[in-house]
Amino acid sequence: MPRYAGNSKYVKNLNRMTVMNIIKDADSISRQQLAKMTGLTPPAISQIIRELINMGFVKEVGLEKSCGGRRPIQLQFNPEAGFVVGLEVTRNEITIGITDLKNHPEDIQNFEMEMTDPEKGISQVSETIRRIINNSKYRDKKFLGMGIAFPGLLNLEAGMVKRSINLGPLWDGFPIKNAFEKEIGLPIYIENNSNASALAERWYGGGTEFTDLVYINLGEGISAGIIMDDRILQGFQGHAGEIGHIVMVEDGPLCNCGNRGCLESICGIPAIVRKATSEMPFIKDDDPLKEIWRINGKISINDILNSAFIEGSYSNELLKQMGKYVGLVVADVINLYNPRAVFIGGKMAKAAEAFMDILKQTVNSHAFPEIARSTEIKLSALGGNSGVIGACALALRELLKPNSNILENMQAFAD
Ligand SMILES: [Zn+2]
Repeated sequence: MPRYAGNSKYVKNLNRMTVMNIIKDADSISRQQLAKMTGLTPPAISQIIRELINMGFVKEVGLEKSCGGRRPIQLQFNPEAGFVVGLEVTRNEITIGITDLKNHPEDIQNFEMEMTDPEKGISQVSETIRRIINNSKYRDKKFLGMGIAFPGLLNLEAGMVKRSINLGPLWDGFPIKNAFEKEIGLPIYIENNSNASALAERWYGGGTEFTDLVYINLGEGISAGIIMDDRILQGFQGHAGEIGHIVMVEDGPLCNCGNRGCLESICGIPAIVRKATSEMPFIKDDDPLKEIWRINGKISINDILNSAFIEGSYSNELLKQMGKYVGLVVADVINLYNPRAVFIGGKMAKAAEAFMDILKQTVNSHAFPEIARSTEIKLSALGGNSGVIGACALALRELLKPNSNILENMQAFAD
């Protein structure tokens, strides 16, 4: 039984949120239609609409007469009644996005920022967010919350980072939600970056029609965000989706997690760069990657990605090997979860041309045939911005859910 069952304040809020979400999802709607859809009495609907109009969430439109007599006044949602901030954190870069309550996030900006120290990092990030808002068209807008896509294991309930291999040990046990709430003064919602990306794909990307999908992040680390039955699959402690630590090679290369031979220890960005560097003596002299190495004395992941589209080049072969390993794991993921679609994203997806075919072939020959045939494998539609877009979606999902206190907060603000 819900904790607040029977509490009339709770029920009142639930009714207001339900009405608001119906109006948000409709182009326009009348009070009469709302009464019919919700089963609430016309006076109750009128009262709710009066409140929603006062708070700025709903406006009246379409007062004109139609030839069949007076058309009832139509109601529309006002997406600009509030805005949210989305933030994606990585080791050396942050990405900030802003969106209203309904539309695709825009104004996405990257900033180089060293994020290994949480105290320093959070203060710099907050400073940047304040600067963006104060020097833009958002200056006088009302911000309602902020979502954060974070690379690491999180305790969502406590709003804490458990561990981030990517950002380093200073983040272990750090209360990220509290720290940001103090700095920014908005409700903060956090989620692991792959889960946020999966949510982005569901809300704004290639998965808007799918309630069951998987997002695979191929970056410094490798992980999956899994949405089943329209909910992010968290698992008992919120660690579901750590596919980067599926063992591919017994006694293989040492992984950041402490084990050996994990997918990430073979196909993560550091592993790919390490392998190419160690094999440099054996690479043909006229190979594009070798030429870069001769000039710079070293190679980066961007050098590998940029030369991977040349058929027959070392980088092309290297990424094909990677595609095969990832394909084996995607086959397992498909067998386990039977998603409608799998989206491949993350930095490595920039060179997807080199490895998507082999990845798909590997999936088709290793997943259960009926399941494989019914699963689409696609490139993420959101490119490098899926994390920050997912962070925006996360804040909106929380602010607009049926038991959200967004309206109560807004009322307190207005009183
Ligand atoms: Zn591992």
